[in-house]
Amino acid sequence: MPCRIKILSENLANKIAAGEVVERPASVVKELVENSLDAGATEIVVEIEAGGKRLIKVSDNGCGMSREDALLALERHATSKISTDGDLLAISTLGFRGEALPSIASVSRCTLSSREKGRVEGTEIYGEGGTIRSVKDRGMAEGTIIEVRNLFFNTPARLKFLKSTETEAAHVSDHLTRLALSRPDVRFLYLNDGRIVFRALNGDLRERVASLLGKTVASGLFPVSFREGEMNIHGLAARPECSRSTASHLYTFVNGRFVRDRVVQHAVLQAYRRFLERGRYPVAALFLLLPAGDVDVNVHPTKHEVRFREQSRVHDFIASAVEGMLQTTPWIRKPVAAPVPPIASPENAAERKVSEVREALGVYQARLDATPSHGVPCRPPGAFPVPRKDMMPVHRVREGERENAAGYFSSLTVLGQFAGAYLVCCDGEDLVLLDQHAAHERVAFEHLRREFSNGSVESQGLLFPEVMEFSHGEVAVVDEHRDSLRRLGFVLEDFGGTARVVQSVPRLLAKKECIRVLRDVIEELSSIGSSRSFLDVQEDILMRMACHSVVRGVHPLAAEEISSLLASLDSVGFATNCPHGRPVFHRIPRSDVEKMFKRG
Ligand code: ADP
Ligand code: MG
Repeated sequence: MPCRIKILSENLANKIAAGEVVERPASVVKELVENSLDAGATEIVVEIEAGGKRLIKVSDNGCGMSREDALLALERHATSKISTDGDLLAISTLGFRGEALPSIASVSRCTLSSREKGRVEGTEIYGEGGTIRSVKDRGMAEGTIIEVRNLFFNTPARLKFLKSTETEAAHVSDHLTRLALSRPDVRFLYLNDGRIVFRALNGDLRERVASLLGKTVASGLFPVSFREGEMNIHGLAARPECSRSTASHLYTFVNGRFVRDRVVQHAVLQAYRRFLERGRYPVAALFLLLPAGDVDVNVHPTKHEVRFREQSRVHDFIASAVEGMLQTTPWIRKPVAAPVPPIASPENAAERKVSEVREALGVYQARLDATPSHGVPCRPPGAFPVPRKDMMPVHRVREGERENAAGYFSSLTVLGQFAGAYLVCCDGEDLVLLDQHAAHERVAFEHLRREFSNGSVESQGLLFPEVMEFSHGEVAVVDEHRDSLRRLGFVLEDFGGTARVVQSVPRLLAKKECIRVLRDVIEELSSIGSSRSFLDVQEDILMRMACHSVVRGVHPLAAEEISSLLASLDSVGFATNCPHGRPVFHRIPRSDVEKMFKRG
């Protein structure tokens, strides 16, 4: 009987590989530009027509190829970048799989022209659907030009999946932006249907960001630079006000390669989480450098995912670098001046601020009106204490607490409490409204975090230990995470079958709904599954605990309580926002108040 199994032809194998590597014009651009960068180019020109469906042309001034190499480059698994198994463990180039050129050539009409450095003439190879049709000499500058026409002309099913010209062009722009950000030292020119989309001259990262993402974004960026052993991270990250609703502006690079990696993204988001509301993403371009052997880039053909040898070390390293930047940037201390984008004209900015203030006051007024008279809406007129000099500063930053907090909150003059939930203060000339709940939550969260990272959250024994019944699934989670629970301040012991007795709970929760919180924590832990780790939920759990440890709703505060809250705010980091990202306070400049009364 004849064999049913056959070895696929080279051409068919290339087409199959193209399915993974070449998804759309943007992937062709990515592969070609990566090749140019690997070839040491300092100038790269990318031209597309009809969103790359008609033509993609990438020209570079890199090392070029000899005729023999150019012919070989079109063969499957032909690469100059690695040669031994060992090389695979320490990849320093963007490419290494030797599949891009043959894959692209197998699904297009492709012309490869190249002139090796030092040679007098170049070579031009033309192929259709992976079959070479002609090879000839060509006069050209040193470097390489690759023209890809009629992508997917011979694979109609794939052609059908391409989107509109505009959409495909937008994908090309996205990929090129990432590549151009990764190498500010290389000049890029990008043309779409003959029009220049961007021209990026060589410069530093900030200039590169300015030419690709705009001057407004670039001017709001702060440098990040951190090193630990052989790991290094540098780049720029923006103040939280510049956040986006998707991760589109979170550019992360590992050893020069753009990646969309779960661990890296999580670490950056964790650092920002205390400033950003859920669902918001920061703007940043961050470059992580680590020994090539510590990261495996050969996880996926498009190489957008990587695998770290020491995942949690890398995670914590990135998170602390970004957090360090956030903690020391000036906007932490003068946060309210930040939201106005620099391009706005002064008139517009003032007008916007006035309307923001009007809106805010409208909300307060509405709340005031809606509060029944027997409630604790605000003190009666005249009952606000006149700012007393002896009241301020209410509290000095205790010795050993963070110097750079500079006692901003303690230096506020407290005018009074509003609606049992807000503090009305004065900061020199300006009015400051402070959300008590957000402030308490931030303080509690930072305490819990500090205790947790120092070993474990302080816990307190229950006078009457509580017996909790669990399902079989839950009890497995409880037992698996018993140590983590202990670190979080919950001490549970066996009580027969699926019952466990709660001996101690976090001190901060001792008098509150500690058992409910424990149930929530266990639920959070069961969501970990195989794709997430304790690390992923640790902050969420601490936030939840912080949230439940503070008094919500109307909560009149005595003067000493206010002083102590303000002093605590000075002693923790990230005091400008609650752990969920809501602002702790708003500053209303005196000039805005004057404008409100038509005095400005
Ligand atoms: P890989 O990049 O994984 O090695 P490719 O199929 O993309 O595989 O390219 C094959 C080889 O062709 C490369 O290893 C390189 O030697 C050569 N090559 C491709 N593009 C260029 C270029 N622009 N300049 C010089 N050499 C190139
Ligand atoms: Mg390549």
